[in-house]
Amino acid sequence: MPLMGTKEMFKKAYEGGYAIGAFNVNNMEIVQGITEAAAELKSPIILQASAGARRYAKQSYLVHLVEAALEVNDIPVALHLDHGPDFETCKDCIDGGFSSVMIDGSKYAFDENIELTKKVVEYAHARGVVVEAELGKLAGIEDDVNVAAKDASYTQPDEVEEFVTRTGVDSLAIAIGTSHGAYKFTPEQCTRNADGVLVPPELRFDILEEITRRLPEFPIVLHGASSVVPSYVKIINENGGKLKDAVGIPEEQLRRAAKSAVCKINIDSDLRLGMTAGIRRHMAEHPDHFDPRQYLGDGRALVKEIVAHKIHTVLGSEGKADEVMALYNANK
Ligand SMILES: [Zn+2]
Repeated sequence: MPLMGTKEMFKKAYEGGYAIGAFNVNNMEIVQGITEAAAELKSPIILQASAGARRYAKQSYLVHLVEAALEVNDIPVALHLDHGPDFETCKDCIDGGFSSVMIDGSKYAFDENIELTKKVVEYAHARGVVVEAELGKLAGIEDDVNVAAKDASYTQPDEVEEFVTRTGVDSLAIAIGTSHGAYKFTPEQCTRNADGVLVPPELRFDILEEITRRLPEFPIVLHGASSVVPSYVKIINENGGKLKDAVGIPEEQLRRAAKSAVCKINIDSDLRLGMTAGIRRHMAEHPDHFDPRQYLGDGRALVKEIVAHKIHTVLGSEGKADEVMALYNANK
């Protein structure tokens, strides 16, 4: 199956009230864990690489790993640049075989963000590649993106129509209270539920609804949307880890978002936690092992497990591969 853009995925996701999972990749085991889960559940997926992943793995390794996954698994897959910091990085990815890029101009003033996004859109569209942009600022840390809570700001609904019209962008990442990383909220920002688990403030669905009213049928993207799965944090901490007060977005809220105009939900921290949990538990249970395939294999198994859970429970994209493929073939 060829690599595809996200146009058909988002159209079907919007109509069907589900979302496409965008999972961050930076090595072979993660690519395999994600794509095996998606293939078993017949789900379309987006594999995405950040600027940090490109530095770590080198772009050609990432592109060829994804191509290999496509040879083995028969599902619709897009390869997307996550948080492209500038035009050059987006251009490198477009020229190097990515089918989708994000230009993150959210650090700039409104007009500068529009100018930069427009430049990327023009280059990308001329080559059949789709573009995601961002309005509003998410708090938290993810690779090169680091925004302090005091500098975070919700997306302003009265800016979205002008932004989308002037840039011609294909999808828009918004800030409605999600946050990057495994430490999305301080304990002081949260309440505790009956089980003593920290619960963050609810996402601003009112802002999402207002944006949707202004941009009908336009695909919206949620970043910073890991739930920071408590069972994986527990495995990590029981096997020598020290992750204190890690807090994520409750899955019921993500499911609610997936049923709305949100067509893409980014998941990175949960994969990192799964991989680390699998490796830590293996190392603790088998201190005599030294074959990397043994512990990386266990890490890969938990990546696969978490992706299957997300597809089934959070995204609602299970069994949707065929309808996306049919639309893609019809549009060719
Ligand atoms: Zn992000």
